[in-house]
Amino acid sequence: MFTPIFTPDAKPGTPYWWDDATWTDLPEPPPSDVELLVIGAGYTGLSAAIAAHDAGAKVAVIDAGNPGKGASTRNGGMTGAHPRLGWNDLNQMYGPDVADGLFGEAQTALDFVLDLIDREGIDCDLQATGRIQLAWMPSHTETQKRVAETVQRFTPQAVQVIPREGLADHITTPQYFGGLYFPGHRALHPWKYHNGLLQAALRRGIPISQDCPAQAISQGPPFTVQTPKGTIKAGKVVLATNGYTTTPFNWFAKRVFPLPSFLMATEPLNPNLLGELAPGRRMMVETRARHSYFRLSPDGTRVIFGGRASMVPMGMEKAAFRLRETMAEVWPQLAQTRVSHVWYGNTGYTFSHMPQVGVHDGVNFAMGYSGSGTVMAPYLGRKAALQALGLPEGDTHYSATTLQRHWMHPTNRPHFLQAANAWYRTYVDRMENWEARYAKR
Ligand SMILES: Cc1cc2nc3c(=O)[nH]c(=O)nc-3n(C[C@H](O)[C@H](O)[C@H](O)COP(=O)(O)OP(=O)(O)OC[C@H]3O[C@@H](n4cnc5c(N)ncnc54)[C@H](O)[C@@H]3O)c2cc1C
Repeated sequence: MFTPIFTPDAKPGTPYWWDDATWTDLPEPPPSDVELLVIGAGYTGLSAAIAAHDAGAKVAVIDAGNPGKGASTRNGGMTGAHPRLGWNDLNQMYGPDVADGLFGEAQTALDFVLDLIDREGIDCDLQATGRIQLAWMPSHTETQKRVAETVQRFTPQAVQVIPREGLADHITTPQYFGGLYFPGHRALHPWKYHNGLLQAALRRGIPISQDCPAQAISQGPPFTVQTPKGTIKAGKVVLATNGYTTTPFNWFAKRVFPLPSFLMATEPLNPNLLGELAPGRRMMVETRARHSYFRLSPDGTRVIFGGRASMVPMGMEKAAFRLRETMAEVWPQLAQTRVSHVWYGNTGYTFSHMPQVGVHDGVNFAMGYSGSGTVMAPYLGRKAALQALGLPEGDTHYSATTLQRHWMHPTNRPHFLQAANAWYRTYVDRMENWEARYAKR
């Protein structure tokens, strides 16, 4: 018998996290003259604004839409940080000192965010779940051992290599060959986290204007920024638009492209079943190229399952089918589970897989988190603001990374993602699945 994929009250297109949301209305036009203007009011922009205000600057924030409706309230809430690339890659790209420094800052960044949450009294369902990276193929377990060595060498972060037979403490599935477990990583509720930062900025009296896109910007500094709600003169600008960067910021849009990531929430499930499937209640993320990432909802009743159902926007029903199909590869018991929410958001991806904080043509910026921004976005947003104000606390090794161009992406529209999507689905996925299946024989 055909069972519909969606629950009767399903909200395709709306993030699960928004069930808890009450949006703050911020219709006021921005001030006409500020020392520092922050463009974009996600984690990066709000953290930048808070840091600039606390350093004594007159600051304002504008957002093209509702603050938070970018990636910052759509994500998986997995919270931890270590560079996406291994030490050898970073060494090749930026040299040994930067590679050491980038690994070294992982714990500093996580500590900064945990302290920020604590200091600002942000109630965001922060849970000490730990995070496990699950090896899709045997060869990935070798890489994991190398990553563990690097993390242990350069950071005080705890990390454990989990052999295949030890995975049962974390997840019940025969799918993976081993894991890399970060006990210090956390889970949070993205909307509550963003709202906490928003309220922290508003408590400080920082003006924040919604539906106020920067439509044009002069050469600067100082800058003249045009918006539909008025012109702003700004001594400095911090650009915090990440995966939603468009005209007039074409230089950035050619280097940080919007890679969609899809998530779904299942209907509430039997807690005993979930306890059996995910005994560790960890944040879980795979090593395959188009990896899935998944967790339980903060109340422990649902699976929140994410992945690159597609590298280009697609219909919500199709996305739900693809995500459920992938979830059933991990947990066949959930093959017929209904979906209550499915949505997507833009990650701001870079060709180096690394974020950067810096200045281009006088515009300070922090972006390019490549799918890992719950820690790095607020951390680097603060750095961007402090750099704009010329303060030494803005120093970070993330100034030495690069926003590279690629010949496949000549304009500010990522047409190449269509071809990349086809390549990954028809070749990379198949090769990885073939290797994984062969090793299980
Ligand atoms: C589906 C999904 C799952 C993810 N899961 C995780 C996870 O589990 N863990 C993790 O660490 N990271 C995750 N991420 C990444 C993380 O959410 C982002 O890195 C982070 O939210 C980036 O924050 P931001 O403030 O830089 O950008 P955003 O939150 O995207 O905000 C950018 C803002 O800029 C505004 N803007 C754009 N152009 C203009 C303009 N011209 N004028 C004014 N405003 C403008 C937009 O309206 C938007 O509000 C995920 C991302 C997605 C999409």
